[in-house]
Amino acid sequence: MARKLLSANEYIDGVLSEDRFILGKAITLIESEKAEDQLLANEVLEALIPKTGKSMRIGITGVPGVGKSTFIESFGNYIIEQGRKLAVLAVDPSSQSSHGSILGDKTRMESLATNDSAFIRPSPAKNVLGGAAAKTKEVIHLCEAAGFNTIFVETVGVGQSEIAVKQLVDHFLLLMLSGAGDELQGIKKGIMEMADSIIINKVDGDNVKHGQMAKARYINALQLFPAPESNWIPKVELYSSVDNTGREEIWEMLNSFFEHIKDNGFFKANRINQNVHWFHQTVRDTLLSRFYSNNDLHKDLIKMEAEVKNGNLTPLNAANKILYETTKK
Ligand code: GDP
Repeated sequence: MARKLLSANEYIDGVLSEDRFILGKAITLIESEKAEDQLLANEVLEALIPKTGKSMRIGITGVPGVGKSTFIESFGNYIIEQGRKLAVLAVDPSSQSSHGSILGDKTRMESLATNDSAFIRPSPAKNVLGGAAAKTKEVIHLCEAAGFNTIFVETVGVGQSEIAVKQLVDHFLLLMLSGAGDELQGIKKGIMEMADSIIINKVDGDNVKHGQMAKARYINALQLFPAPESNWIPKVELYSSVDNTGREEIWEMLNSFFEHIKDNGFFKANRINQNVHWFHQTVRDTLLSRFYSNNDLHKDLIKMEAEVKNGNLTPLNAANKILYETTKK
């Protein structure tokens, strides 16, 4: 069945009037790879730009099982009670495989999903990580234009996706467990270094004592890292979705973080740097995909590969030849 395309104005008016059905359709438009959809998406995004940028953008990561979706649901509902409007997005490296996306399972975050002040959008399937994350940036803009003033971007703590998410958000929140050692949680030092806050999760029952000990340990560990550009000393908090503890502390911590980075200028400077990053990233991604989808070049590529295999050309010579050819095509 043919998809009914809306006009640019229908998308723009729908998003601005906070119509979540149209918001969903606008996101699908942005995620589309079709050239005509992209032209329309650009028109919509450009018109909405003045209405974007005013949200708190928060990245949430941690290994599978640490309790990300439970935390997002529990803490999300709490901040909605504080008057916020929350959009939950995902950048998911695993969505390229058959395992599906982290937010693909609709039974997760049930109470948030039915809350009028929340909007949950699974990670787009079948997309390369860089491309998906670049589009998530635009999806953040759409959600902001639709009145969402808090954006959570969830990602699985497995490595490369955190680096992309760090470039999308103002605050990077890392969920950890108190019981297992850092190595067991598969958290690399580099990821801890990126965190603006570490939330020790599931601090309930027998875990309360461990949680307090872990907090002291992480506070010490964080002191050894060089001061971040934001000049914000990362905070460590405890949380339990079972006991509903830690919500006020984390909300307060987030508010003081935003106050701090707005006061010292980092909020604005960081967002400008992120825009520059995504500009270059998109140029790189587009050049790569154009290069590899050009049939003539593909033939040359196979020819050059053969030349390298049989030793007629060095890798560098072969690469230079093909790159010289591209400038002519
Ligand atoms: P994710 O894979 O990181 O999204 O983790 P989930 O949110 O799916 O949670 C993994 C498991 O931990 C589930 O069985 C949850 O019920 C449990 N869990 C999540 N939060 C808490 C908590 O605060 N306390 C306890 N005791 N269990 C929790």
